[in-house]
Amino acid sequence: MTATLDTWTLQPDGRRVDKPANMGNVMATLKGTDPTDDRVFIVQGHMDSRVTNVMNRESDAPGANDDGSGTAAVIELCRVMSKSSFPATIIFVTLTGEEQGLLGAEHLSERAIKEKWNLEAVLNNDIMGSNNSSDTRIIDNTRLRVFSEGLPSSLLKDTTGRIGQIQRFGNENDGKARTLARYLKEIGERYVENLEVVMVYRNDRYLRGGDHTPYVQRGFAAVRMTEMNENYEHQHQDLRTENGTEFGDYPKFMDFEYLRKNTAVNLATLANLAKSPTVPQKVTVDVRNLTNATVLYWQAPQAGKVKGYYVLMRETYWPFWQKKFFTTKLGMTLPYSKDNYYFAVQAVSEDGNEGLPVLPVPNLR
Ligand SMILES: [Zn+2]
Repeated sequence: MTATLDTWTLQPDGRRVDKPANMGNVMATLKGTDPTDDRVFIVQGHMDSRVTNVMNRESDAPGANDDGSGTAAVIELCRVMSKSSFPATIIFVTLTGEEQGLLGAEHLSERAIKEKWNLEAVLNNDIMGSNNSSDTRIIDNTRLRVFSEGLPSSLLKDTTGRIGQIQRFGNENDGKARTLARYLKEIGERYVENLEVVMVYRNDRYLRGGDHTPYVQRGFAAVRMTEMNENYEHQHQDLRTENGTEFGDYPKFMDFEYLRKNTAVNLATLANLAKSPTVPQKVTVDVRNLTNATVLYWQAPQAGKVKGYYVLMRETYWPFWQKKFFTTKLGMTLPYSKDNYYFAVQAVSEDGNEGLPVLPVPNLR
C-alpha cells in the first residue's frame, strides 16, 4: 500500500470558492497483485466539514458524522485491508472540498477519465454513523441506505440510441449504479449481522449532494451509503443550544456500533469484488426465435481464475436477484421465458467470490 496526497489549486469560481485554494485528496492505494487485472475500486468519504453558513471558515465545525464517519470508515478499511492482498486495485480516499461543491470528487473522477482507469465501482460513504432522526425521533441502527441512480445520468446527452434501447427492453432499473447497489445488498447482508441494506431508487436525497455524483455523471458505477435516519439538528449547524436543543455535529451523537456495521458492509463488498474474476465478456441473450426458453452465452473474463458462472434471474418487477444458476460452461439454456424475467451473468472465483453482474445484450439477428 502506498499513500499519496493528490494536490491542485482552484481559482475563485463565484460560488463556494471565494479565493485561490490549495486542494488535496488523501489517497492510499492497495495495488492489485494480478498484473493482468486492471480493475480499480474506490472507497471514499470527505474530510471537510461545515457549519450553518458554508462560507464560514472561522467557527468550529466538528463534523463527527458529516463526514467524520465516512473518513473514519475509510481509514479503518485501510488498516484492515492493507494486511491482505487482492488481485485488483483498491483506492481508499478521503476527499476535500465536498461542502464547497464536490470539488475533490470532481478532481478524482476527472483524473480517472484522463488516466483511463478501469474503475468498476465507487462506494461513497457520507453521514453513516448516527442512528436517529430529528422530527420523527426514530432510533434504529439496523438499516443502512444505499442510494443509486436508475437511468444513467451519463446517458442524458447520449445520441447513439442507447436510451431508446433501455426503454424498449425495460432496462431502466438496471444501470451500473443500481446493479452495484443490488450487489452491495446481497454481499453486505451475507456478512454483516443485524443489518439490512435498503436500496433507495434515486441518486441522492432532496436538497443534498454527494461525492458519488461526479462519478455517475462520467459514466462510472457509484453509490452513496448513508444512515437510515438523519438528524438535521446535527448536520451543517452552528454549535449552540436553543430552547433546550443542542445543535452541532458532535462525536457524542454518534453510534459507533452502527458505524462499525456500516463500515463492515464496505469491507465485505470491496473484498468480494477485488477477489473476484473480472466481468464475463460479450454477454448475450438470443432473441432471434419465438421460444419459451432463454438462451444466454458469453466469453471468459480477461483476468482471474474462474470456477464458473452464476446466471442471475429475477421477475421484472422484483428489486433484487431471486434465483442463481451455476455453470462451468460459457452459456446456458433455461426453461424460463426471456420475456418474463431479467437475467445477468457474473463470474465466480475458485474461492466463491462473485464479480459484478453483467446484463446480456440482445442478439437481434
Ligand atoms: Zn457530507
